[in-house]
Amino acid sequence: MRLIVTYVSLILLGFVGLSLLAGNQISAGAVEDFERSLETQAALVARNLREPLEHFSEGEGSYSSMQTAVNSLANDFNLQITLVGPDGFAWLSSDDSVGNVNLGSDPEVVAALDRSGIVFDTRNNEQNVPTIYTAVAVTEDGYLLSVVQVSAPASATASVVNQRYLALAAGVLGLTGLAVVAALWLAASFTRPLEGLQNSAMKLAAGDLTQRVRVDRQDELGQLAETFNHMAEQVEAMLLEQKAFASNASHELRTPLTTIRLRSEALRDGTLDEATAQQYIAEIDDEVARLGRLVNDLIQLSRFDSGRAEVGHELIDPVRLGRSLCQQMEKTAVSKKIALTFDAPNQLPAIQANQSHLRIVLQNLLGNAIKYTPEGGRVTWQLSQEDGYLRSEIVDSGIGLDPEDAEHLFERFYRADKAHTRATGGTGLGLPLAKSIVEFYHGKIQIQSDGLGQGTTAIVWWPLSKT
Ligand code: ATP
Ligand code: MG
Repeated sequence: MRLIVTYVSLILLGFVGLSLLAGNQISAGAVEDFERSLETQAALVARNLREPLEHFSEGEGSYSSMQTAVNSLANDFNLQITLVGPDGFAWLSSDDSVGNVNLGSDPEVVAALDRSGIVFDTRNNEQNVPTIYTAVAVTEDGYLLSVVQVSAPASATASVVNQRYLALAAGVLGLTGLAVVAALWLAASFTRPLEGLQNSAMKLAAGDLTQRVRVDRQDELGQLAETFNHMAEQVEAMLLEQKAFASNASHELRTPLTTIRLRSEALRDGTLDEATAQQYIAEIDDEVARLGRLVNDLIQLSRFDSGRAEVGHELIDPVRLGRSLCQQMEKTAVSKKIALTFDAPNQLPAIQANQSHLRIVLQNLLGNAIKYTPEGGRVTWQLSQEDGYLRSEIVDSGIGLDPEDAEHLFERFYRADKAHTRATGGTGLGLPLAKSIVEFYHGKIQIQSDGLGQGTTAIVWWPLSKT
């Protein structure tokens, strides 16, 4: 609405300015036009009077027939006509109030007597009415018969001006009306899609995630509609992901809790033999440990997601950290008869991080390599330096990945090997957490595999500290 008001006021302002300008031109033009027509009329009058004047000068016509001719012309043209002799004295006039006076000093008469062109003069007549005068000479063979002075009230121009103002006003009003209609139409063509957008936004906010707007124009509003739809899609996808996450998380929490409850109920009954009881207690311990890890992972993930985690500033020697992690995993690797090799140059630049963040990432990748490699396989870990990054590459000869699974590895709770989920004991949070951490430190992570049974390669690029 404010837009329309602004438009219309601007248009009106423009028109008022234009009218003022045009008005000025009109007044100036009208006087000039009136003088031109007076000049034409004077010429016509002079042409009509030539013959009577010739006769009169030859002594053929009477003064009264001359008077009649002048009066009828004055009537026809609605002018006052006065004939002035070469001596400058008026000798005949359509106006009774003009006597035998000397007009020889009136500028238009002077010009006519001199034959120096046509002159217009505006002054008050005998009745004190503003009047426009002009005069032309009527000659025969270079001999001046008479000067014909014509005049008309100046108010005649005013009526012309008024007429033109009226026409201008009508035009301006018409145009303003048109402009207002155009502005209203334009505004409506803007507001309608905006209202649609607002409606959809409200519905979206109220929880209807399927809301989309129709994109049926190419301009900025069409782009806005497209952006809105894109945003709606993202919001919908995000919420779906959140829902899936919540349901996965509760499922993952419920499973160990169920096991714990069943085992503890059986133990409470007191009817179990000693060996079974011991086994149940061990199972409860495992599940509790599993729950602890799960909750811990979830807490870490939410920390990195919400940006509440803090970048660590410890200076870490990557080679030492790698050796220590390998030592830690050695037992598992040996028990699975996996050949674990660590390969790094003697010296690598230190990296800046929180040691435990870095450990979570590398431990999980190395852990995965060992976990998903069957007995007798190989796991090789190589550290190197690449374009300002520490590059860690862990290659295993394990079960590999289906290309379809490879796409989803970084989704929370995603596990490729669903059949053996419980046997390998993971929850599918390791890689998402590793990715969150690596990206939090502005690094990159990549898992590649040529397919099932083809082994897997996990690469991390961690920025080297600038100092
Ligand atoms: P968690 O790490 O939370 O204990 P997890 O190891 O199952 O559980 P991720 O580390 O996120 O979870 O890995 C997700 C899935 O990716 C795994 O379940 C596994 O199917 C697949 N995967 C990861 N690393 C490898 C690997 N080196 N070889 C084959 N499959 C792998
Ligand atoms: Mg893992």
